[in-house]
Amino acid sequence: MAPQEVFHAAGGQEQHERSAREVRQRAILRVAVPVPLRRLFDYLPPEGLTCDDCRPGQRFWVPFGKRSLVAVLVDVVDDSPFDELKPALERIDSHPVFDQRSRQFLQWAADYYQAPAGELYAAALPVALRKGKPADHWAEQWLELTTEGKGLPETALARAKKQQALLQLLLSFGRQSRTALNARGLNSTVCKALIERGLARWVSGPTAPPPLEDTEPKPAPDLNEEQQLAIDAVAFDSFSASLLEGTTGSGKTEVYLRLMERALREGKQALLLVPEIGLTPQTLRRIAARFPDFGIAALHSGLADGERARAWLSAASGVADIVIGTRSAIFTPLPRLGVILVDEEHDGSFKQQDGVRYSARDLSVVLAKRAGVPVMLGSATPSLESLHNALSGRYQHLYLRHRAGNARPPQISLVPTLHQQLQEGFAPQVLRHIGETLSRGEQVLVFINRRGYAPALTCDDCGWLADCPHCSSKLTLHRRQRHLRCHHCDYRMREVHSCPQCHSRNLNALGAGTERSEDFLAHTFNQFPVIRVDRDTTSSKQALDRLLEPARNGEPCLLLGTQMLAKGHHLPRVTLVVIQDADGGLFSADFRAPERMGQLLEQVAGRAGRGDLAGHVLLQSRYPEHPMLQLLLNKGYGAFARQLLEERALTQLPPIRAMALVRAECEEARWAEEFLTNARHYLEALAPPSPQLQYLGPVPALLERKSGRFRFYLQITAEKRGLLQQMLARFCAWAEGNKNRRLRWAVDMDAQELS
Ligand code: ADP
Ligand code: ZN
Ligand code: ZN
Repeated sequence: MAPQEVFHAAGGQEQHERSAREVRQRAILRVAVPVPLRRLFDYLPPEGLTCDDCRPGQRFWVPFGKRSLVAVLVDVVDDSPFDELKPALERIDSHPVFDQRSRQFLQWAADYYQAPAGELYAAALPVALRKGKPADHWAEQWLELTTEGKGLPETALARAKKQQALLQLLLSFGRQSRTALNARGLNSTVCKALIERGLARWVSGPTAPPPLEDTEPKPAPDLNEEQQLAIDAVAFDSFSASLLEGTTGSGKTEVYLRLMERALREGKQALLLVPEIGLTPQTLRRIAARFPDFGIAALHSGLADGERARAWLSAASGVADIVIGTRSAIFTPLPRLGVILVDEEHDGSFKQQDGVRYSARDLSVVLAKRAGVPVMLGSATPSLESLHNALSGRYQHLYLRHRAGNARPPQISLVPTLHQQLQEGFAPQVLRHIGETLSRGEQVLVFINRRGYAPALTCDDCGWLADCPHCSSKLTLHRRQRHLRCHHCDYRMREVHSCPQCHSRNLNALGAGTERSEDFLAHTFNQFPVIRVDRDTTSSKQALDRLLEPARNGEPCLLLGTQMLAKGHHLPRVTLVVIQDADGGLFSADFRAPERMGQLLEQVAGRAGRGDLAGHVLLQSRYPEHPMLQLLLNKGYGAFARQLLEERALTQLPPIRAMALVRAECEEARWAEEFLTNARHYLEALAPPSPQLQYLGPVPALLERKSGRFRFYLQITAEKRGLLQQMLARFCAWAEGNKNRRLRWAVDMDAQELS
């Protein structure tokens, strides 16, 4: 529920901006246009409007070459370096959709990530608004009290209970949207009665967040000591950044909920960022059940364009109190922002891997600082970046060391698989454990990091291997859909039963993905349901929710799936977790692979024993003696991560050093390589290599060819982020002059992937 001042507060700020500016005769609109050029563009006001009608943050249709594009007004200026300005075509919004703080924040991000501001504005907007639909389309009716109504005591209208309830609501919380009133069962008849008495009236106002499905309100549990300490450590009157390092199931979410509650009580908005697969109906229900009286805007990809625009606008106008979203939600203007929470802060999905390559996790700290509010990053397996910031004192370091409620930490054992008689990839003792657990009426979770039936198909006679014609990768056999598919470019070909090269029928599916394991486990444990969870079985968030229904009901079952199962789900009857292959990150060329492996193993293991029953984890490995696995197992992720940090210090890699990649891709490998060689010469001329500034490359990306393009990168590590920034800004200006249209290049600041 929004306090009444909100509307006026936003208006007041714009008034101020306007009077601060001298209105001149020939004023010019400086706008951000969604094109890949790192500059702003100037236009005259649209026909029939003066600059007085135009306020920064509004959108305009502008002519651009032969096209019309949606631009955002960033500034009104007196002078332009260009002659012959064209007028903008049309003003789209009657009120700005971006407030001043969000505009400055977006500009900061554009500078930091070397991105065109226009592309960043576009990334900030939901699709419907990006396409130019006016915000007024979602305007809504609000019921507000007249002067007479405001003069009444709460006890008035005692003879008409519903009207009294409505009056009381309006007296205590100010005006209410039609959506909010309907959700409370206060329909138009009740409203009409109040209006006819001259006590209230309808006015037009911003949209309210779309109502969530009904949930039983659920009271909060009593906090344990560590949770209380963590909450008390967060001050609300200024910026602070905290890392909440808390074991899986230790009650981190409960801490977020309490911090949200505090912000809401102060009349502020709370922003919760979650990883892509973390925004499940289960998460939303939990929040809705805690805050039944507040407006919740959930920004996720499952929404239709219109609903998403509505949720976004309700947040941007200050009506929604709680905003939950995946990475792009960080760009939602929040005029009453009071706290930012980032759940599973280590998750890779917070970093965008194409277009503007921003990190929502990193930006959350920047935004909190600019807004003067606290930010909390939480994880059972913090990223080395955040851990480094916490250990060096830049972030406040908070811990939840124990599981909440009665849950105990799981017991973890390694199962060696070398020289073992495996059945479809499972050791006999693992299968025995699965059987026993199911027979006890408990649940089992089997983690397999590959979807499909088998990751490779080969011919035993001539050695043919099913490769993707467009990528340097193998095709995965998907037997259910009877095709072979590339997981990088989505190329598909019909399943073959004889070798395309020598026509032999001795084709061999190598290795096991989720489909194959599902067949085997369903056959072996045929008295129990086997639920496969991967991207192929869960096309929508709702599908995942439905799929997990039997598991939540508590009946014995076997869950089998990819990392979609690793996070966010609270399944108290899972007592055995099997990790089929723990060796994934041990020998990768990516220096972040061990960190990711540790996070994944700890998160998956954390699904075991979250209820009253004790949990068990079995890790199959070919290298059980490997020091990394041993450390992870014996000392846990915390010690493991601290050891990795020491290694990064020795090798001078992030987070000890700042790192940026210049990427280039092209159908012609040598053009990409040549571009990067020139880039390196250009950069080295600006700042020669030194112990504080190192260049590597051009080198081929880990996936060298993707969708028919060869991919290379140049890696730059620097002691000083500022220097890297300046160099890259100059480089971008230089590289924009590159005329080879078939070559794509990008700057990836704080790159996470070498692939
Ligand atoms: P995390 O986010 O760290 O994985 P959750 O907040 O989801 O942990 O908590 C795990 C379980 O413990 C949930 O069912 C939650 O309701 C419960 N829980 C959290 N805090 C408490 C508490 N103080 N007392 C009792 N139960 C709690
Ligand atoms: Zn063959
Ligand atoms: Zn491919």
